[in-house]
Amino acid sequence: MSLVTVLYHDDFMLHSPEPYQHPENPARLRRVLEALRARSLEGRVQVREPREGNSSVFTSVHSPSYLKYVLSLGDQGVSWIDADTYVSPGTRKAVARLAGAADEAVSLALEGGKAFIAGRPPGHHAGIAGRALGAPTNGFCIVNTAALVARMLSARSKPVVVVDFDLHHGNGTQEIFWDDPNIIHIDIHQDPATIYPGVGFPEDLGTGEAKGTKVNIVTPPYSGDDIYMHALSVVRAIVEEVKPDYIVFSAGFDAYRGDNDFTVMNVGSRFYWEAGRTLSALAKGVVAVLEGGYGVGLERGLEAFMAGLTGLSEDPVGDRESASMESALRFYSRALARLKKALKEAGSPYWDVVEEPGLRPS
Ligand SMILES: [Zn+2]
Repeated sequence: MSLVTVLYHDDFMLHSPEPYQHPENPARLRRVLEALRARSLEGRVQVREPREGNSSVFTSVHSPSYLKYVLSLGDQGVSWIDADTYVSPGTRKAVARLAGAADEAVSLALEGGKAFIAGRPPGHHAGIAGRALGAPTNGFCIVNTAALVARMLSARSKPVVVVDFDLHHGNGTQEIFWDDPNIIHIDIHQDPATIYPGVGFPEDLGTGEAKGTKVNIVTPPYSGDDIYMHALSVVRAIVEEVKPDYIVFSAGFDAYRGDNDFTVMNVGSRFYWEAGRTLSALAKGVVAVLEGGYGVGLERGLEAFMAGLTGLSEDPVGDRESASMESALRFYSRALARLKKALKEAGSPYWDVVEEPGLRPS
C-alpha cells in the first residue's frame, strides 16, 4: 500500500463563473472531496493544504504576457477569454495555490511519493500563449499545472512521462513540449476529427530531437472498456520501455460512462483503477493533476483511479465492463496501425512495442 497525498485548498473554489452557469465550476471539487471519503480509500489518502505559491513559476510553460493577461483580466470581474473559457476575480488566488501545490507535489515525487493535485481550473488545453495548436478555445483551461510539474521533474531526471487520459487531447501540453525530447507525452483521447480541440492525431509526433516522443492514441466515440483497456496496455508497454523515474498524470474523468451530457465515451471503473495501479508501479514518484470530469466520473472514476494509485489490489467500484461496437473496434485498429507506422517512420524507439489490438466484436 502506498499513501497518496491529496493537495487541496478552498482557494481552488475561487475560480468561479457565477453568476453564469458553466460545467467547469467549484461544485466539481465538492464531488471530488466526497469521492475521496469513500471507504475504499480510508487510511490510503491524506488530504493536505498546499501553501500559496508564486504564479510566476508558470512562466516556465507559458509566455509571461499570456499569464499577465489572464490574471489581470480576472481581476476586473468574470470575463470570457473565449467562447468556452472564463476568468474571475478568484482566478489569481487559485493559480497561486496551484503553483504552491505543484511545488509540493514535485517535492513529494522526488522523495518517492505520490501526490494528487485536486485543483482547478484545469490546464491541459492551455498552451504557451493560451489556445494551443490552432484549437478554437482554451477549453476551460487557464494554466497548465501538469506541464509545470513535468517540466520541474524533468530538471531532476529525464525523461519524464506524461500520461493524459482525459477524454480530450492535451493539446496545450503537446504544444509546450513539442520540441522537448525530455518529456514523453502519451495521450489517450477521442478522435480529434469528432471533438474539441481538433488536434492530436497519430501522426503528430513532435519535432526535431523530440520527434516520436509525443504519442497520440485515438479512440472513436462510444468506445468501451475493451478499447480503453487495450489503449492502456499500449501506454504501459511504452512506459516499460522508457523506464522513467517520474510519471505525471493529466487525470480527467470525462470519458467515464455517463459523466456528462456533452461527451459519449463508455469507459467503466476498471480502466481508471488499472491506470492508477499499473502505471504508478513503474515509476519512483508520481504526480496526478485533475483535468476534466463534470459529473459521476469525478466520483466513481476518480475513486477507482485513486484506489489504483494507492495500490489497492481490486477495483473498489467494480463497474460492469462494456464492449465497443464493431465499427468502433475497426476504427481503433486503424488508428493504432497509423500510430505504429508513424512512430516507425519517425525512427521512434517505441513503434516496436505498439501491439495491434486483435479485438473482436463480442
Ligand atoms: Zn476533457
